[in-house]
Amino acid sequence: MSTSDAPRSTGKALRIGLFGGTFDPPHVGHLVTAVNVMHTLDLDRLILMVANMPWQKQGSRRITPAQDRLAMVEAAVRGVPGLEAGRTEIDRGGASYTADTLVSLADNHPGAQFFTILGDDAAAGLPSWERFRDVLDRSRIVVVDRPGMPVVLPEGIDWIRVEVPRLEISSTDLRSRLVDGRPLDYLITPPVLGVIRERALYGSLTGSPS
Ligand code: ATP
Ligand code: MG
Repeated sequence: MSTSDAPRSTGKALRIGLFGGTFDPPHVGHLVTAVNVMHTLDLDRLILMVANMPWQKQGSRRITPAQDRLAMVEAAVRGVPGLEAGRTEIDRGGASYTADTLVSLADNHPGAQFFTILGDDAAAGLPSWERFRDVLDRSRIVVVDRPGMPVVLPEGIDWIRVEVPRLEISSTDLRSRLVDGRPLDYLITPPVLGVIRERALYGSLTGSPS
């Protein structure tokens, strides 16, 4: 058992953040959000859950294989206290639904309190999620602002809004930078760049670091 698995001495329920994404690739916008939400909400741990099949993105573009995305997220969080890469959705296989993931997490952590974390672009789509009412019943929704994204939040849902530094970074922009050979420095952490190079992901950056 790691120290983060240990119950708190106060006897409070374990507080676990679930930050789901495609993470294709993971970038500092994800990481800055994760550590700030963890701090503000006093979470014991925060799981960056790698979607196996992001059903909302299917068909719109080629998605990097799940194991490669997991390797990048593992590299991103290595050594950061409280942050974890989640593989539950990959292990389950098929389409990734947060409602199912929350059931698995609750089975593994009885009595824990869960927080589902979303950028506001993702939160706007929440009512279209599979069994989204289950997501609301099983977790508290946490929304962070994203620059340039329209803030259209569904009515009648109990949110927590957490302020985080707004970083105008997206995986979409990073993928086009990878293809064009534009710099990724400071947008992606060096360990993640290492995985991209080692695995020759995104059809580029196969050379050694400059
Ligand atoms: P893509 O451009 O491929 O959609 P992305 O950068 O939006 O990638 P996702 O994996 O789709 O990354 O996002 C996972 C979660 O992280 C979502 O809830 C999204 O809103 C949030 N997120 C992504 N980038 C940021 C950012 N720069 N600041 C805050 N939240 C972010
Ligand atoms: Mg996105």
